[in-house]
Amino acid sequence: MNKRKNKYHNIVVLGGSESGTGAALLAIRNGLRVFVSDAGSIKPHYKLLLEQNNIPFEENRHSGDIISQADLIIKSPGIPDQASVFSYVTTADIVSEIEFASWFTNAFIIGITGSNGKTTTTLLTGFILKNAGLDICIAGNVGKSFAACLSESDHAIFVLELSSFQLDGIVDFRANIAVITNITPDHLDRYNGSFEAYASSKLRITMNQTSDDALVYCADDETSNIHINNHPISSKKYSFSIKNEESHHTGIVKQNSIYINIPPNPFTMTIEELALQGRHNTYNSLAAGISAKILGIRNETVKQSMSDYQNIAHRLEYVANVHGVSYYNDSKATNVNSTWYALEYFNRPIVWIAGGIDKGNDYSILIPLIRQKVKAIVCLGKDNQLIHEAFASHVKSIIDVDSAEQAVAAASFLAEKNYVVLLSPACASYDLFDNYEDRGNQYKQAVKSL
Ligand code: ADP
Repeated sequence: MNKRKNKYHNIVVLGGSESGTGAALLAIRNGLRVFVSDAGSIKPHYKLLLEQNNIPFEENRHSGDIISQADLIIKSPGIPDQASVFSYVTTADIVSEIEFASWFTNAFIIGITGSNGKTTTTLLTGFILKNAGLDICIAGNVGKSFAACLSESDHAIFVLELSSFQLDGIVDFRANIAVITNITPDHLDRYNGSFEAYASSKLRITMNQTSDDALVYCADDETSNIHINNHPISSKKYSFSIKNEESHHTGIVKQNSIYINIPPNPFTMTIEELALQGRHNTYNSLAAGISAKILGIRNETVKQSMSDYQNIAHRLEYVANVHGVSYYNDSKATNVNSTWYALEYFNRPIVWIAGGIDKGNDYSILIPLIRQKVKAIVCLGKDNQLIHEAFASHVKSIIDVDSAEQAVAAASFLAEKNYVVLLSPACASYDLFDNYEDRGNQYKQAVKSL
């Protein structure tokens, strides 16, 4: 385990949500002094956990006198580097909860990052490994935080979903298998509008890898390719591609089947047999399959798992068919690239529900698909100007609404028999909803009330 775990005596955790509370619990279980400080209010569930464990905390404020005394700051991923609280920090080291947690385990780590497909690939990988009978825990940016899991028990393998914000705060964290699903523009508001900075942040997942480790990545993704080829990487590279059947890729698609070429027993199954349909999900299945094969999981287990897996809600989720119109909920599509795959997936006319908080989107890559498939757009956001500017000249109708109920009512009016109504916003949800789940749930409720 990492020697740093005994270096600090006065820890302050900034942020009292899943990762912050998890870090505090892990610290206290290891006999370390810790204080939690949150500029906003802390949710009752986390407050209770802190109280039950006698962890001192404050909310709706940051006390400069306490924070300035810390020798270690554990920063939650939601707090931007520019936040004013950092003016109190003078000499303390600042790390993310992922880094801190990694000091307390010798487990094998599979770290999965990327702009889209992190959750799906993480859960699918975990599902395969669990079916293989391994002692695994899925954590990180999905479900419980890494630290919270470790505060309960250690495991042989952790499958971690990692956001770029979590990777920004790593120092010694090492992924034995790193997966980069893809790198496309997202969260540029947190990276001063710099795609370069955001991409470099994703590459940090390879930072402490050695020649014993593996990097799994998508060779069809231009940005990943460029950055991986121009970055010093010590681990063994395993690429996958569905555009190129060349044998040097570990994972490919040929004649409607996926192939994973890792000795001794190359793996194959048809795309039709994959539980996760859609081109984006073929990529995710390849990434998960390669990771499982690196670990030597038997082909039968990988195949069975990849055909039995059930996707989670809000990712291109089928909701219902009402009067010949199919409704889909892709509320988790919070950037342009994920929406591109959703629009690409359908071979039927689409009424597209889009909008919310624009994170600096470039909508131009959607225009060919919009012209080809989208008959009408329903804008579901407080400020829809950018969507109007990008698409008004490419569709017959474009209208504004400000609730999920109105969006479904408008879409059902615009859709004809055999159409698809697709909520795939390409934007964050916080203008009108609590989060993407709330947006998706309100949409599904409205569809069911039709
Ligand atoms: P993340 O955790 O990275 O946000 P999710 O698996 O939750 O990824 O999926 C988020 C959105 O991206 C959904 O709309 C989903 O359909 C879409 N998506 C999933 N995998 C990919 C991929 N490999 N490429 C592009 N879009 C994807």
